[in-house]
Amino acid sequence: LTEFPYENVLVLGLAKSGTAAARLLLDSGKHVRINDWKTNETDPVVSELKTMGAEVIVGSHPVSVLDNIEVIIKNPGIPYSNPILEEAVNRGLPILTEIELAGLLAGNRMICITGSNGKTTTTTLIGEMLKNSNQSIQVAGNIGTAASEIANKLQENEQLVLELSSFQLMGIDKFNPHIAVLLNIFEAHLDFHGTFDNYMEAKANIVKNHKATDYFIYNADDAIVSKIAESTPSIKVPFSIHEEQLDGAWMDEDAVYFKKEKIINRKDIVLVGEHNLENIMAAICAAKLSHASNEGIKKVLTSFAGVKHRLQFVEMIQGRFFYNDSKATNMLATEKALASFTKPTILLAGGLDRGNEFTDLMPHLKQVKAMIVFGETANKLQKTAKEAGIKVIEHAENVADAACKAFDISEAGDVILLSPACASWDQYKTFEQRGDMFIQAVHRLK
Ligand code: ADP
Repeated sequence: LTEFPYENVLVLGLAKSGTAAARLLLDSGKHVRINDWKTNETDPVVSELKTMGAEVIVGSHPVSVLDNIEVIIKNPGIPYSNPILEEAVNRGLPILTEIELAGLLAGNRMICITGSNGKTTTTTLIGEMLKNSNQSIQVAGNIGTAASEIANKLQENEQLVLELSSFQLMGIDKFNPHIAVLLNIFEAHLDFHGTFDNYMEAKANIVKNHKATDYFIYNADDAIVSKIAESTPSIKVPFSIHEEQLDGAWMDEDAVYFKKEKIINRKDIVLVGEHNLENIMAAICAAKLSHASNEGIKKVLTSFAGVKHRLQFVEMIQGRFFYNDSKATNMLATEKALASFTKPTILLAGGLDRGNEFTDLMPHLKQVKAMIVFGETANKLQKTAKEAGIKVIEHAENVADAACKAFDISEAGDVILLSPACASWDQYKTFEQRGDMFIQAVHRLK
């Protein structure tokens, strides 16, 4: 970490990224103070970091943790309204996130992906396309292992593919991905960022340090994203569902293209959904710029059935197609999922009640022939289904029960789709647990 110009660092929040940052800074001989409100003194990580030489303060956030500190590495989830951060701003201290360290280590070997939706899918696609082209890469960030931990182990010839959130991007200084991907910007996380402008600015940070030799892959169909593209010096690589892009990726009814070259016939792509075509085009741009082979790209697109819990094809049983979209924790995601199918669909939905109604779903329920509802929002969803003219509506105990009930009333050719439009916390610890229960139930049906 020779280019990190600070000696006295406060790591605020341990978790995955804080632990990785602390280890790295200690290894580089920095003086590290760690403050975490939730972690317990008896946590093995605490003793490990103490043994490495860190000063660790757990159980409270006294403002005195800022004394003699030159810079803060904060956990991306800690809001800027935290009193320590407010005081740090008063004192003029830089507040960074751990990806800044990853950037210093990986230099120009980074491909970074951000956007409101589609990050994990696109990051996975890029990683797979490069691996299938025999390139040395590591995938990290929001998707799994902390960016700095992987960046620290990166070999000379390896590239780093990073999924980044707006929270991480808010805390950068020199961080500069040579290849940056911006998928889309919807109104999201406004509870954290306060205003849409702040959120937009955080996403735009992905190209904050771009020079004329860096690449910016962006969604030309998204007005906000296109606006950001106008103001960067980067080499622009647009992708679009609607219009030919001779500098990037585009498609017609039959195929997907990169510049003038045909990459793949659309009928050979396994992933469903128009939104996934956007992710695919973004991934093709990144893969091609990194010299992936067309064979490698094609191999992925003809076999990759989706990231787990994201409109993931589970299985076909007696002509019924089961999809797990447990990650769809809001209506917008369920709308995208429904728009991905034309076949008669049985929708399995319900979960935590956040107080909203489901009327916005109505126009998207055209091909839905039956609905199985569960969880706290079961009655509200039943009401919406009834108003949309859906004849068959059943209540289920949970997603496993819902899978069975759906199978009972289905016919060959139907899509059976778990896309709950609600968070999982009324009945499950996580959306992953909910999706796993569904997958197991589907396998049992077989
Ligand atoms: P993220 O990592 O940004 O949360 P994922 O790849 O995990 O994104 O996808 C989460 C959900 O977002 C998907 O189930 C789908 O409903 C929706 N989605 C994915 N890609 C897009 C896209 N390009 N545009 C709009 N919605 C998308």
